[in-house]
Amino acid sequence: MRTIGLVGGMSYESTADYYKIINQMINSHYGGHTSAKIVLFSVDFGEIERHQSEGKWDESALVLIDAAKKLESIGADVIALCTNTMHIVADDIQANLYIPFVHIADATARKIRNNNISKIGLIATRYTMEMDFYVERLKSFGLEVIIPEADDRKSINDVIFNELVHGIIDVNSKKRFISIAHDLVGKGCDGIILGCTEIGMLIKSEDIDVSLFDTTQIHCETLVKLAVR
Ligand code: GLU
Repeated sequence: MRTIGLVGGMSYESTADYYKIINQMINSHYGGHTSAKIVLFSVDFGEIERHQSEGKWDESALVLIDAAKKLESIGADVIALCTNTMHIVADDIQANLYIPFVHIADATARKIRNNNISKIGLIATRYTMEMDFYVERLKSFGLEVIIPEADDRKSINDVIFNELVHGIIDVNSKKRFISIAHDLVGKGCDGIILGCTEIGMLIKSEDIDVSLFDTTQIHCETLVKLAVR
């Protein structure tokens, strides 16, 4: 079994999900008492969030490159960044590693294409929805990507940063997300990307009758496939 390197802490709520999901998947693959080989570098999200709101992406890149290289040096065979937003510096991280870096948007786009879906809605942080790095990456797989209207983007972002990263699950926020997802379906989307690693804590496939692509789940599946190969 290969060792999975996780650069996490963005937020620790979703990194805890990565840890659990990867272990569950590895255990159901091998059975018995088998669990995953994981090395985790959990960064200070306060620092990353401050850089995000000040647009200091280069400074976060240095923090994340350093974390990924440390994981590589202690035996990680593959690296993942446990957040969609910080994939804005994915190329910088990848360029500094010898081992493979598993890009969350690539993994998600492949899964969507395998489901024969071409028009997809994206719910994520404002950075992920509004900046080019993520949507363009999805489009390079032939996907048409629809994002919510400006006021909906603001409320999604507020819920992520004021509630979900703190582990707060609010029933009204859940209703709001479901209604935004329905609006995207009304615009012709055949599926919705949960493009923030905490959104799966709030809405699940049983809440809505459209295909949900939970990036945390898909990222973990992709990592586990590599680890067991
Ligand atoms: N975990 C989130 C994401 O997947 C948001 C937190 C962050 O800004 O890194 O984008």
